[in-house]
Amino acid sequence: MEKQIVFLIVLLITLGIFSFSIYRYVQFFRLVKPKKIGDWGKRFMMMVNIAFLQKKILRRKWVGTMHALVWWGFLLILFGSAEMVIDGLFGTEKAFSGLGWFYNFMMALDDIFALIIAFAVIAFLVRRLFMHIKRFYGPEMRKVDKMDANIALTIILVLMISLLGMNTFYLIWAKQTGNEILGSYPVSSHLTNLFSNVSSETAWFWYQFNWWTHITLIFLFANILPYSKHFHVFVSVPNTFVGRLEPLGYVENMENITKEVKMMLDPNAAFEEPAEGEEEAVERFGIKDIEDVNWINYMNSLACTQCGRCTSVCPANITGKLLSPRKVMMDTRKRMKEKGPEMIKNGRNFDDSKALLGNYLTEEELWACTLCNACAQECPVNINQPSIILGIRRYLVMEEAKAPSGLNTVFSNIENNGAPWQFSPEDRLLWAEGLKVPVIADVVAEGKKPEYLLWVGSAGAFDDRYKKVMREFVKILNHLKVDYAVLGVEESDSGDVARRAGNEMLFQMQALTNIEVLNGYEVDKIVTCDPHDFNTLKNEYSDLGGNYQVQHHTQFLQQKIASGEIHIDGGELKGKKITYHDPCYLGRANGEYDAPRDVLKAIPAMIVEMERNKSFALCCGAGGGQMFKEAEKGDKEIFIERTEEALETGADIICTACPFCMTMMTDGIKYTNKEEEVKNYDIAELVSMSMGL
Ligand code: SF4
Ligand code: SF4
Repeated sequence: MEKQIVFLIVLLITLGIFSFSIYRYVQFFRLVKPKKIGDWGKRFMMMVNIAFLQKKILRRKWVGTMHALVWWGFLLILFGSAEMVIDGLFGTEKAFSGLGWFYNFMMALDDIFALIIAFAVIAFLVRRLFMHIKRFYGPEMRKVDKMDANIALTIILVLMISLLGMNTFYLIWAKQTGNEILGSYPVSSHLTNLFSNVSSETAWFWYQFNWWTHITLIFLFANILPYSKHFHVFVSVPNTFVGRLEPLGYVENMENITKEVKMMLDPNAAFEEPAEGEEEAVERFGIKDIEDVNWINYMNSLACTQCGRCTSVCPANITGKLLSPRKVMMDTRKRMKEKGPEMIKNGRNFDDSKALLGNYLTEEELWACTLCNACAQECPVNINQPSIILGIRRYLVMEEAKAPSGLNTVFSNIENNGAPWQFSPEDRLLWAEGLKVPVIADVVAEGKKPEYLLWVGSAGAFDDRYKKVMREFVKILNHLKVDYAVLGVEESDSGDVARRAGNEMLFQMQALTNIEVLNGYEVDKIVTCDPHDFNTLKNEYSDLGGNYQVQHHTQFLQQKIASGEIHIDGGELKGKKITYHDPCYLGRANGEYDAPRDVLKAIPAMIVEMERNKSFALCCGAGGGQMFKEAEKGDKEIFIERTEEALETGADIICTACPFCMTMMTDGIKYTNKEEEVKNYDIAELVSMSMGL
């Protein structure tokens, strides 16, 4: 009875403190912006895959397997912990033992996993303390953050030792007193040999000692977690549930901007007026401070384990720039910890003359991002780091009119010329000179409707190198007698660069204008050579009323090869060594890794992979508007890092499938003085060459 009373007091204290901690977080969640989520079924499956099956963490085989075993072990051990709570409250001994074989099975698993977790935790501690693993370091990782991780690992180790100790001394006590052994303990039954001379009283003492150590440590751990980075133990599972269902390349539409843009494009358009006496809330565009993030952003920051996997794959960080996606998440959490309690006391408008932007994150960090999504891909708990980065860019551009000068030039060029460069929109079809390229207005005027709309994109229309790619692709289309047409001078920049550089207003103006034209011609199928436009047209235009079946040219070519319409004999490419660079907006952003590789396999050349390929591929450094601005200070340019990796394969040809990647790789080849030995071609050019066109 005494044990029950003590246990009840300990449990009530634990629950009391824990409830207070959770209440405090609930109050913080009330301070941030709302966001609707749906698709519960899909979300549930995402949570099962990422949280319970550990799909993302298993991307890295060895460390991933160890982490996964610890996690699965924890879930199993919960069974034994629940039994301990029942035993503690009701004075029972092994309360779940009535479950028969299932009980034996679960207790055996608990016993085995206690040993596995103990070994894994020792390995983690050795890695952290004695091996210099780069991702555990970084300017954002203060001593206290590293200590936090080590303390938590030590507590877990003691938890496992006490669990094994409890089982071992229980077995000794039961054997010596002739009590029936409840449960099965394959590891601890071996450990009993180490204590063969122990009396039944001593065994009972150590059994109880380990029992209490184990359960009080669990209670203590539960109350330390909300105040340490290990709060992710509670938050990471729900965080995987609220993660992105859309492809990684998708950027969410800003509804409040859509209304403004529609009014600018059509001042006579009717919109619902606010009710009488009700003032329309003036909302800040983008993220300046913690109250501007939405609840998912904030939950992300709580779910962050500070593992540094995101930072270790970030092209900006790898090349010595200040940006660290882990720091973005850590700063978001810290800022709420600082400002949240004051906002609760003094109201949501509380101002301490500080902000997330400026006092925590600098403009230099934010502008270094290529929006490659490698961080989001890598994060084991499904965090969307680019969402906050883009949110702050939106604030800078739309509220403060602050952007790097190169991007300001791009904005005004897109606004005035419909392209990031200063070319006349009237010249949009000059790239096709001398080729038979049907224009949709002419085709429709003849009473016909083309099967495909070939979206040329600004680079295809104006970039000297990519114009050549477009010409080769069109030669293939003409050779195959594909029923297609282009918009010609009616096409305007897709707005991809503007959106990723934070100018949502300009993006939506471009998108709505293009959609009006595309819908006017009743376009269904689009094919494009530009993965950025592919992503925008496929994933983002639908939010504004443009719904199309969009194919990247690698997918189109893959189909034509598979159907036997394209015959390849290899020509001058026979025996060449080719390496393929995955464009972020085709690969990671849209999961397309096979189509380009299938096309290349059809060419009788040797394909060699770079060390970082497919979803692990390093960005070329041009995305997120970087193509049009000076790179931030660092040790190296990203395009050089990627080109060097491509050159390490010994390839004769670096194959790309994106205009930006092509510019970067061409520059990289020039920079490394390899122009004579190594060539850079788009996949369409290789197919065209192989077909002898
Ligand atoms: S999107 Fe890419 S560049 Fe930006 S923080 Fe993530 S990994 Fe780094
Ligand atoms: S954001 Fe994700 S990958 Fe990055 S440190 Fe946090 S948990 Fe690790």
